Amino acid sequence: MNSKLTRRDFLKTTGAFSAILFLNLGFDLADVEASTNRLKIKYAKETPTICPYCAVGCGIITHTIDGKVVNTEGDPNHPINRGSLCSKGSSLFQVAINERRMKKPLYRAPGSDRWEEKEWGWVLDRIAHRIKETRDAGFIARESNMIVNRTEAIASLGGAALDNEECYLLAKLMRGLGVVFLEHQARI
Ligand code: SF4
Repeated sequence: MNSKLTRRDFLKTTGAFSAILFLNLGFDLADVEASTNRLKIKYAKETPTICPYCAVGCGIITHTIDGKVVNTEGDPNHPINRGSLCSKGSSLFQVAINERRMKKPLYRAPGSDRWEEKEWGWVLDRIAHRIKETRDAGFIARESNMIVNRTEAIASLGGAALDNEECYLLAKLMRGLGVVFLEHQARI
């Protein structure tokens, strides 16, 4: 007889033993796990929000303590997802708690081989100036004796995470500038 204990045998034996022990002593691991989660968020502030990743728009509850995110989970009262989340939405916590999270805009100057951190004010001013320059340089006021007031030098590409109100504002802004090439990532 081969008396060698394989790793699989060991796991089977110890797993079965643990199950018997917990059953005999009346432990319910599901209750223990649920209580652990409840303890973690017991004094946390709950804020409902929407998953930013895709157009499904699942509802999420964010738990914070002293302004720090301690947990995120599906919102059971949300009509779209009723508490469930896909694997991407389930990892939303890592957007806030992540040592690799970028906290400032990065800018790479023309011809440069490196990125520099910039303040938001500087970046937004720069974007506004570049849009104005580009629009003015490529503006078409008339075509075939008709007033058209458009630019073909700028295109707008929306993302699936934009909600209705953001899409509305973006379309208004782009139409106001005379942009005619408006697209959306979900259509491509
Ligand atoms: S949880 Fe998943 S399906 Fe729901 S909005 Fe986020 S990415 Fe989309």
